[in-house]
Amino acid sequence: MKYISTNGKSRPVTFREALLQGQAPDGGLYFPDSLPQLPDTFFSDLAGKSLQDIAVAVAKPYINGDIPDEALEHIISKALSFVIPLKEIERDLYVLELFHGPTLAFKDIGARFMAGCMAWFNRNEGREVTILVATSGDTGSAVANGFLGVEGTRVIILYPKGKVSEVQEKQFTTLGHNITALEVNGTFDDCQKLVKTAFTDPELAHRLNLSSANSINMGRLLPQSFYYYYGWSQLGDRHVKPLICVPSGNFGNLTAGLMASRTGLPVDGFVAATNVNRVVPEYLETGIFTPRPSVQTFSNAMDVGNPSNLTRIMYMYNHNVKEIRKNIQGFSADDEQTMEAIADVYARTGYILDPHSAIGYLGLKHFLPEDRPGIFLSTAHPAKFGEVVKEVTGISGYRNIPGNPATTTRMLKKREKNDSDKQRI
Ligand SMILES: *Cc1c(COP(=O)(O)O)cnc(C)c1O
Repeated sequence: MKYISTNGKSRPVTFREALLQGQAPDGGLYFPDSLPQLPDTFFSDLAGKSLQDIAVAVAKPYINGDIPDEALEHIISKALSFVIPLKEIERDLYVLELFHGPTLAFKDIGARFMAGCMAWFNRNEGREVTILVATSGDTGSAVANGFLGVEGTRVIILYPKGKVSEVQEKQFTTLGHNITALEVNGTFDDCQKLVKTAFTDPELAHRLNLSSANSINMGRLLPQSFYYYYGWSQLGDRHVKPLICVPSGNFGNLTAGLMASRTGLPVDGFVAATNVNRVVPEYLETGIFTPRPSVQTFSNAMDVGNPSNLTRIMYMYNHNVKEIRKNIQGFSADDEQTMEAIADVYARTGYILDPHSAIGYLGLKHFLPEDRPGIFLSTAHPAKFGEVVKEVTGISGYRNIPGNPATTTRMLKKREKNDSDKQRI
Protein backbone atom coordinates (compact mmCIF):
# COMPACT_ATOMS: atom_id res chain seq x y z
CA MET A 1 0.00 0.00 0.00
CA LYS A 2 1.14 3.50 -0.81
CA TYR A 3 -0.16 6.82 0.45
CA ILE A 4 -1.17 9.45 -2.07
CA SER A 5 -2.01 13.09 -1.60
CA THR A 6 -5.63 14.22 -1.78
CA ASN A 7 -4.31 17.03 -4.02
CA GLY A 8 -2.77 14.46 -6.37
CA LYS A 9 0.41 16.39 -7.03
CA SER A 10 2.90 14.68 -4.71
CA ARG A 11 4.59 11.35 -5.34
CA PRO A 12 3.15 8.31 -3.53
CA VAL A 13 4.94 7.52 -0.28
CA THR A 14 5.20 4.66 2.22
CA PHE A 15 3.55 4.61 5.65
CA ARG A 16 6.86 5.64 7.20
CA GLU A 17 7.19 8.70 4.96
CA ALA A 18 3.55 9.66 5.43
CA LEU A 19 3.98 9.52 9.20
CA LEU A 20 7.26 11.44 9.30
CA GLN A 21 6.11 14.10 6.82
CA GLY A 22 2.64 14.63 8.29
CA GLN A 23 1.27 16.63 5.38
CA ALA A 24 1.99 16.03 1.69
CA PRO A 25 4.31 18.59 0.04
CA ASP A 26 1.51 19.70 -2.33
CA GLY A 27 -0.55 20.77 0.67
CA GLY A 28 -2.90 17.76 0.48
CA LEU A 29 -3.46 15.04 3.06
CA TYR A 30 -2.10 11.56 2.68
CA PHE A 31 -4.61 8.76 2.13
CA PRO A 32 -4.14 5.08 1.16
CA ASP A 33 -4.19 4.53 -2.60
CA SER A 34 -6.57 1.63 -1.98
CA LEU A 35 -8.18 0.27 1.16
CA PRO A 36 -7.70 -3.37 2.14
CA GLN A 37 -10.72 -5.64 1.67
CA LEU A 38 -11.15 -7.87 4.69
CA PRO A 39 -12.72 -11.29 4.06
CA ASP A 40 -16.02 -12.34 5.65
CA THR A 41 -14.13 -14.81 7.81
CA PHE A 42 -12.25 -11.90 9.38
CA PHE A 43 -15.54 -10.55 10.71
CA SER A 44 -17.02 -13.91 11.68
CA ASP A 45 -13.87 -14.56 13.73
CA LEU A 46 -13.82 -11.20 15.50
CA ALA A 47 -15.98 -12.06 18.50
CA GLY A 48 -13.84 -12.85 21.48
CA LYS A 49 -10.66 -11.47 19.94
CA SER A 50 -8.69 -8.97 21.97
CA LEU A 51 -8.43 -5.32 21.02
CA GLN A 52 -4.70 -5.78 20.45
CA ASP A 53 -5.14 -8.79 18.15
CA ILE A 54 -7.75 -6.96 16.09
CA ALA A 55 -5.56 -3.86 15.89
CA VAL A 56 -2.53 -5.83 14.68
CA ALA A 57 -4.58 -7.61 11.99
CA VAL A 58 -6.16 -4.35 10.78
CA ALA A 59 -2.87 -2.41 10.85
CA LYS A 60 -0.67 -4.83 8.92
CA PRO A 61 -1.81 -4.02 5.35
CA TYR A 62 -1.58 -0.29 6.10
CA ILE A 63 1.96 -0.54 7.49
CA ASN A 64 2.90 -2.82 4.61
CA GLY A 65 6.15 -4.06 6.12
CA ASP A 66 7.52 -0.66 7.18
CA ILE A 67 7.49 -1.98 10.74
CA PRO A 68 8.22 -5.70 11.27
CA ASP A 69 5.31 -7.69 12.74
CA GLU A 70 6.97 -8.25 16.09
CA ALA A 71 7.74 -4.55 16.59
CA LEU A 72 4.21 -3.65 15.46
CA GLU A 73 2.71 -6.04 18.01
CA HIS A 74 4.83 -4.44 20.69
CA ILE A 75 3.85 -0.89 19.70
CA ILE A 76 0.16 -1.83 19.71
CA SER A 77 0.19 -3.67 23.02
CA LYS A 78 1.89 -0.67 24.64
CA ALA A 79 -0.31 1.95 22.97
CA LEU A 80 -3.61 0.16 23.62
CA SER A 81 -2.98 -0.96 27.17
CA PHE A 82 -6.42 0.07 28.43
CA VAL A 83 -10.00 -1.10 27.99
CA ILE A 84 -12.43 0.15 25.31
CA PRO A 85 -15.73 -1.25 26.58
CA LEU A 86 -19.07 -1.20 24.77
CA LYS A 87 -21.98 -0.60 27.17
CA GLU A 88 -25.72 -0.74 26.53
CA ILE A 89 -27.17 2.29 28.31
CA GLU A 90 -30.66 2.07 26.82
CA ARG A 91 -32.30 -0.69 24.82
CA ASP A 92 -30.28 -1.16 21.59
CA LEU A 93 -28.35 2.01 22.32
CA TYR A 94 -24.69 1.45 23.04
CA VAL A 95 -21.81 3.66 24.08
CA LEU A 96 -18.25 2.82 23.06
CA GLU A 97 -16.01 4.31 25.77
CA LEU A 98 -12.80 5.55 24.16
CA PHE A 99 -11.63 7.56 27.17
CA HIS A 100 -9.82 5.07 29.41
CA GLY A 101 -6.34 6.19 28.37
CA PRO A 102 -4.04 8.34 30.53
CA THR A 103 -5.49 11.73 29.50
CA LEU A 104 -9.11 10.56 29.59
CA ALA A 105 -9.86 11.38 25.95
CA PHE A 106 -9.93 9.32 22.77
CA LYS A 107 -6.94 11.17 21.34
CA ASP A 108 -4.71 8.97 23.54
CA ILE A 109 -5.26 6.12 21.11
CA GLY A 110 -3.93 7.98 18.09
CA ALA A 111 -1.17 9.81 19.92
CA ARG A 112 0.21 6.72 21.70
CA PHE A 113 0.23 4.63 18.53
CA MET A 114 1.92 7.42 16.60
CA ALA A 115 4.54 7.93 19.32
CA GLY A 116 5.35 4.22 19.24
CA CYS A 117 5.78 4.23 15.46
CA MET A 118 7.84 7.42 15.55
CA ALA A 119 10.17 6.00 18.19
CA TRP A 120 10.64 2.88 16.09
CA PHE A 121 11.36 4.79 12.87
CA ASN A 122 13.78 7.01 14.76
CA ARG A 123 15.56 4.31 16.71
CA ASN A 124 18.85 4.47 14.83
CA GLU A 125 18.88 8.18 14.05
CA GLY A 126 21.45 10.14 15.99
CA ARG A 127 19.26 13.26 15.96
CA GLU A 128 16.52 14.27 18.32
CA VAL A 129 13.12 15.07 16.78
CA THR A 130 11.17 18.07 18.04
CA ILE A 131 7.42 17.64 17.92
CA LEU A 132 5.68 20.99 17.83
CA VAL A 133 1.93 21.15 18.53
CA ALA A 134 -0.64 23.83 19.05
CA THR A 135 -3.56 22.72 21.17
CA SER A 136 -6.94 23.91 22.34
CA GLY A 137 -6.77 21.23 25.05
CA ASP A 138 -7.04 17.55 24.29
CA THR A 139 -4.45 17.17 21.54
CA GLY A 140 -1.71 18.66 23.68
CA SER A 141 -2.32 16.39 26.62
CA ALA A 142 -2.63 13.24 24.51
CA VAL A 143 0.50 14.01 22.49
CA ALA A 144 2.51 15.01 25.58
CA ASN A 145 1.54 11.85 27.41
CA GLY A 146 2.04 9.70 24.32
CA PHE A 147 5.60 10.98 23.80
CA LEU A 148 6.53 11.27 27.48
CA GLY A 149 9.87 9.54 27.95
CA VAL A 150 10.06 8.42 24.30
CA GLU A 151 13.77 8.44 23.51
CA GLY A 152 15.01 10.80 20.83
CA THR A 153 11.93 13.03 20.98
CA ARG A 154 11.18 16.39 22.54
CA VAL A 155 7.68 17.85 22.62
CA ILE A 156 6.80 21.53 22.67
CA ILE A 157 3.16 22.42 23.27
CA LEU A 158 1.65 25.83 22.64
CA TYR A 159 -1.68 26.52 24.31
CA PRO A 160 -3.85 29.61 24.78
CA LYS A 161 -3.80 31.14 28.25
CA GLY A 162 -7.03 30.68 30.20
CA LYS A 163 -8.79 28.73 27.43
CA VAL A 164 -8.13 25.15 28.48
CA SER A 165 -9.70 23.35 31.43
CA GLU A 166 -7.78 22.78 34.65
CA VAL A 167 -7.44 19.06 34.04
CA GLN A 168 -6.26 19.65 30.48
CA GLU A 169 -3.64 22.19 31.55
CA LYS A 170 -2.26 19.96 34.31
CA GLN A 171 -2.01 17.14 31.83
CA PHE A 172 0.73 18.90 29.90
CA THR A 173 2.32 21.28 32.41
CA THR A 174 3.18 18.76 35.13
CA LEU A 175 5.04 16.13 33.16
CA GLY A 176 8.60 17.44 32.91
CA HIS A 177 11.20 15.24 31.17
CA ASN A 178 11.04 15.78 27.41
CA ILE A 179 7.81 17.85 27.51
CA THR A 180 7.71 21.65 27.50
CA ALA A 181 4.47 23.63 27.58
CA LEU A 182 4.33 27.22 26.38
CA GLU A 183 1.43 29.32 27.60
CA VAL A 184 0.58 31.83 24.88
CA ASN A 185 -1.11 35.08 25.74
CA GLY A 186 -3.58 34.76 22.86
CA THR A 187 -6.05 32.40 21.22
CA PHE A 188 -5.72 28.89 19.81
CA ASP A 189 -5.45 30.44 16.35
CA ASP A 190 -2.43 32.46 17.54
CA CYS A 191 -0.81 29.24 18.77
CA GLN A 192 -1.46 27.57 15.45
CA LYS A 193 -0.01 30.54 13.58
CA LEU A 194 3.20 30.32 15.61
CA VAL A 195 3.50 26.62 14.81
CA LYS A 196 2.87 27.17 11.11
CA THR A 197 5.47 29.96 11.02
CA ALA A 198 8.03 27.65 12.59
CA PHE A 199 7.33 24.97 9.98
CA THR A 200 7.67 27.38 7.07
CA ASP A 201 11.11 28.53 8.31
CA PRO A 202 13.34 25.97 6.58
CA GLU A 203 16.39 26.78 8.69
CA LEU A 204 14.54 26.41 11.98
CA ALA A 205 12.69 23.32 10.80
CA HIS A 206 16.00 21.72 9.85
CA ARG A 207 17.94 22.81 12.92
CA LEU A 208 15.32 21.51 15.32
CA ASN A 209 14.39 18.53 13.15
CA LEU A 210 10.77 19.60 13.48
CA SER A 211 7.86 17.22 13.14
CA SER A 212 4.15 17.54 13.79
CA ALA A 213 1.67 15.30 15.54
CA ASN A 214 -1.56 16.96 14.57
CA SER A 215 -4.75 15.15 13.67
CA ILE A 216 -4.04 15.06 9.93
CA ASN A 217 -1.14 12.65 10.46
CA MET A 218 -1.83 9.13 9.13
CA GLY A 219 -0.08 7.82 12.24
CA ARG A 220 -2.92 9.17 14.33
CA LEU A 221 -5.72 8.44 11.88
CA LEU A 222 -5.04 4.75 11.30
CA PRO A 223 -5.29 3.57 14.96
CA GLN A 224 -8.62 5.34 15.28
CA SER A 225 -10.11 2.76 12.95
CA PHE A 226 -9.15 -0.16 15.26
CA TYR A 227 -11.88 0.45 17.81
CA TYR A 228 -14.68 0.47 15.24
CA TYR A 229 -13.97 -3.22 14.59
CA TYR A 230 -13.55 -3.92 18.28
CA GLY A 231 -16.74 -2.06 19.23
CA TRP A 232 -18.70 -3.93 16.57
CA SER A 233 -17.25 -7.26 17.76
CA GLN A 234 -18.65 -6.59 21.21
CA LEU A 235 -22.19 -6.46 19.81
CA GLY A 236 -21.81 -10.20 19.51
CA ASP A 237 -24.10 -10.87 16.53
CA ARG A 238 -22.19 -10.78 13.26
CA HIS A 239 -25.26 -9.98 11.17
CA VAL A 240 -25.89 -6.79 13.04
CA LYS A 241 -25.36 -3.52 11.19
CA PRO A 242 -25.33 -0.69 13.69
CA LEU A 243 -25.78 2.99 13.05
CA ILE A 244 -22.72 4.78 14.45
CA CYS A 245 -22.69 8.34 15.72
CA VAL A 246 -19.39 10.22 16.04
CA PRO A 247 -19.07 13.51 17.96
CA SER A 248 -16.83 15.47 15.63
CA GLY A 249 -14.52 18.47 15.35
CA ASN A 250 -11.74 17.88 12.84
CA PHE A 251 -13.48 14.70 11.63
CA GLY A 252 -10.49 12.40 12.01
CA ASN A 253 -12.52 10.01 14.14
CA LEU A 254 -15.33 9.79 11.59
CA THR A 255 -12.86 9.42 8.69
CA ALA A 256 -11.32 6.42 10.46
CA GLY A 257 -14.81 4.92 10.82
CA LEU A 258 -15.48 5.40 7.11
CA MET A 259 -12.19 3.66 6.34
CA ALA A 260 -13.23 0.71 8.53
CA SER A 261 -16.58 0.47 6.79
CA ARG A 262 -14.90 0.53 3.34
CA THR A 263 -12.82 -2.49 4.36
CA GLY A 264 -16.03 -4.42 4.96
CA LEU A 265 -17.12 -3.61 8.51
CA PRO A 266 -20.93 -3.99 8.59
CA VAL A 267 -22.30 -0.55 9.38
CA ASP A 268 -25.71 0.91 8.65
CA GLY A 269 -24.35 4.41 8.20
CA PHE A 270 -22.85 7.18 10.29
CA VAL A 271 -24.07 10.29 12.03
CA ALA A 272 -21.68 13.27 12.00
CA ALA A 273 -22.61 15.10 15.19
CA THR A 274 -21.26 18.56 15.96
CA ASN A 275 -21.88 21.41 18.36
CA VAL A 276 -22.94 24.80 16.95
CA ASN A 277 -19.80 24.78 14.82
CA ARG A 278 -21.93 22.96 12.29
CA VAL A 279 -20.10 23.53 8.99
CA VAL A 280 -20.21 19.85 8.07
CA PRO A 281 -23.92 19.21 8.78
CA GLU A 282 -24.50 22.37 6.76
CA TYR A 283 -22.38 21.05 3.92
CA LEU A 284 -24.44 17.83 3.93
CA GLU A 285 -27.66 19.86 3.74
CA THR A 286 -26.66 22.39 1.11
CA GLY A 287 -23.74 20.82 -0.74
CA ILE A 288 -21.75 23.97 -0.06
CA PHE A 289 -18.82 24.03 2.34
CA THR A 290 -18.32 27.35 4.09
CA PRO A 291 -15.55 27.34 6.69
CA ARG A 292 -15.74 30.05 9.30
CA PRO A 293 -14.10 31.03 12.61
CA SER A 294 -15.05 28.68 15.42
CA VAL A 295 -17.38 29.56 18.28
CA GLN A 296 -16.52 28.53 21.86
CA THR A 297 -18.77 25.86 23.43
CA PHE A 298 -18.77 23.40 26.35
CA SER A 299 -17.56 20.70 23.97
CA ASN A 300 -14.41 22.70 23.28
CA ALA A 301 -12.45 19.90 21.58
CA MET A 302 -15.08 20.10 18.83
CA ASP A 303 -14.87 23.88 18.36
CA VAL A 304 -13.58 23.70 14.82
CA GLY A 305 -14.71 26.00 12.02
CA ASN A 306 -12.60 24.52 9.24
CA PRO A 307 -12.32 20.77 9.84
CA SER A 308 -9.12 19.44 8.32
CA ASN A 309 -10.25 15.88 7.63
CA LEU A 310 -13.24 16.89 5.52
CA THR A 311 -10.77 16.92 2.61
CA ARG A 312 -10.25 13.19 3.12
CA ILE A 313 -13.98 12.50 3.31
CA MET A 314 -14.62 14.44 0.10
CA TYR A 315 -11.75 12.58 -1.53
CA MET A 316 -13.23 9.21 -0.51
CA TYR A 317 -16.51 10.11 -2.23
CA ASN A 318 -15.04 11.87 -5.29
CA HIS A 319 -16.45 15.16 -4.00
CA ASN A 320 -19.95 13.88 -4.64
CA VAL A 321 -22.11 15.12 -1.78
CA LYS A 322 -25.04 12.92 -2.86
CA GLU A 323 -22.87 9.86 -2.32
CA ILE A 324 -21.69 11.17 1.06
CA ARG A 325 -25.31 11.66 2.13
CA LYS A 326 -26.00 7.96 1.52
CA ASN A 327 -23.55 7.10 4.31
CA ILE A 328 -23.46 10.13 6.60
CA GLN A 329 -26.26 12.11 8.20
CA GLY A 330 -25.50 15.44 9.82
CA PHE A 331 -26.62 16.53 13.28
CA SER A 332 -25.80 19.41 15.61
CA ALA A 333 -26.70 20.49 19.13
CA ASP A 334 -26.09 23.67 21.12
CA ASP A 335 -24.83 23.98 24.71
CA GLU A 336 -28.32 24.01 26.18
CA GLN A 337 -29.29 20.76 24.45
CA THR A 338 -25.95 19.30 25.54
CA MET A 339 -26.63 20.13 29.19
CA GLU A 340 -30.18 18.78 28.96
CA ALA A 341 -28.90 15.52 27.51
CA ILE A 342 -26.36 15.08 30.33
CA ALA A 343 -29.07 15.75 32.92
CA ASP A 344 -31.68 13.56 31.23
CA VAL A 345 -29.43 10.53 30.73
CA TYR A 346 -28.09 10.84 34.27
CA ALA A 347 -31.60 11.06 35.74
CA ARG A 348 -32.95 8.08 33.79
CA THR A 349 -29.94 5.76 33.74
CA GLY A 350 -27.31 7.03 36.18
CA TYR A 351 -24.81 7.19 33.32
CA ILE A 352 -22.72 10.38 33.20
CA LEU A 353 -21.83 11.85 29.82
CA ASP A 354 -19.23 14.50 29.14
CA PRO A 355 -20.34 17.36 26.83
CA HIS A 356 -18.73 15.83 23.71
CA SER A 357 -20.24 12.39 24.24
CA ALA A 358 -23.61 13.99 25.04
CA ILE A 359 -23.69 15.36 21.49
CA GLY A 360 -22.90 11.86 20.22
CA TYR A 361 -25.79 10.51 22.26
CA LEU A 362 -28.21 13.13 20.93
CA GLY A 363 -27.19 12.52 17.32
CA LEU A 364 -27.71 8.80 17.65
CA LYS A 365 -31.09 9.20 19.40
CA HIS A 366 -32.22 11.53 16.65
CA PHE A 367 -31.66 9.08 13.82
CA LEU A 368 -31.81 5.61 15.37
CA PRO A 369 -34.81 3.65 14.05
CA GLU A 370 -36.66 1.41 16.48
CA ASP A 371 -35.29 -2.09 16.90
CA ARG A 372 -31.98 -1.22 15.30
CA PRO A 373 -28.77 -1.21 17.30
CA GLY A 374 -26.82 2.01 17.47
CA ILE A 375 -23.45 2.96 18.88
CA PHE A 376 -22.25 6.41 19.82
CA LEU A 377 -18.61 7.06 20.53
CA SER A 378 -17.78 8.55 23.90
CA THR A 379 -14.67 10.64 23.36
CA ALA A 380 -13.93 12.01 26.85
CA HIS A 381 -14.35 10.98 30.47
CA PRO A 382 -16.91 13.20 32.25
CA ALA A 383 -14.34 14.01 34.94
CA LYS A 384 -12.28 15.86 32.35
CA PHE A 385 -15.07 18.40 32.03
CA GLY A 386 -15.98 18.47 35.71
CA GLU A 387 -17.25 22.05 35.68
CA VAL A 388 -20.08 21.30 33.25
CA VAL A 389 -20.88 17.94 34.80
CA LYS A 390 -21.15 19.55 38.23
CA GLU A 391 -23.55 22.17 37.00
CA VAL A 392 -25.85 19.57 35.50
CA THR A 393 -25.64 16.59 37.83
CA GLY A 394 -24.69 18.32 41.08
CA ILE A 395 -21.73 16.00 41.44
CA SER A 396 -18.86 18.22 42.36
CA GLY A 397 -15.17 17.61 42.27
CA TYR A 398 -13.20 15.29 40.11
CA ARG A 399 -12.79 12.73 42.87
CA ASN A 400 -16.52 12.22 43.21
CA ILE A 401 -17.22 11.38 39.60
CA PRO A 402 -17.34 7.60 39.43
CA GLY A 403 -14.70 5.68 37.56
CA ASN A 404 -11.92 8.22 37.29
CA PRO A 405 -8.40 6.88 37.48
CA ALA A 406 -6.29 7.50 40.57
CA THR A 407 -3.40 8.67 38.41
CA THR A 408 -5.37 11.73 37.36
CA THR A 409 -6.28 12.55 40.95
CA ARG A 410 -2.57 12.46 41.78
CA MET A 411 -1.74 14.60 38.80
CA LEU A 412 -4.28 17.25 39.77
CA LYS A 413 -2.50 17.62 43.09
CA LYS A 414 0.80 18.21 41.38
CA ARG A 415 2.13 21.64 40.71
CA GLU A 416 3.84 22.70 37.57
CA LYS A 417 7.30 21.56 38.52
CA ASN A 418 9.50 24.38 37.38
CA ASP A 419 9.93 27.00 34.73
CA SER A 420 11.11 24.56 32.15
CA ASP A 421 7.77 22.78 32.30
CA LYS A 422 5.68 25.84 31.69
CA GLN A 423 6.85 29.03 30.09
CA ARG A 424 4.93 32.08 29.07
CA ILE A 425 5.20 33.82 25.72
C1 LIG B 1 -10.69 15.84 19.47
C2 LIG B 1 -11.95 15.50 20.13
C3 LIG B 1 -13.14 15.33 19.41
C4 LIG B 1 -13.22 15.54 17.92
O1 LIG B 1 -12.57 14.52 17.21
P1 LIG B 1 -12.23 14.73 15.66
O2 LIG B 1 -11.51 13.51 15.25
O3 LIG B 1 -11.37 15.96 15.60
O4 LIG B 1 -13.52 14.92 14.95
C5 LIG B 1 -14.29 14.96 20.09
N1 LIG B 1 -14.28 14.82 21.44
C6 LIG B 1 -13.15 14.97 22.16
C7 LIG B 1 -13.23 14.80 23.63
C8 LIG B 1 -11.94 15.30 21.54
O5 LIG B 1 -10.85 15.46 22.28
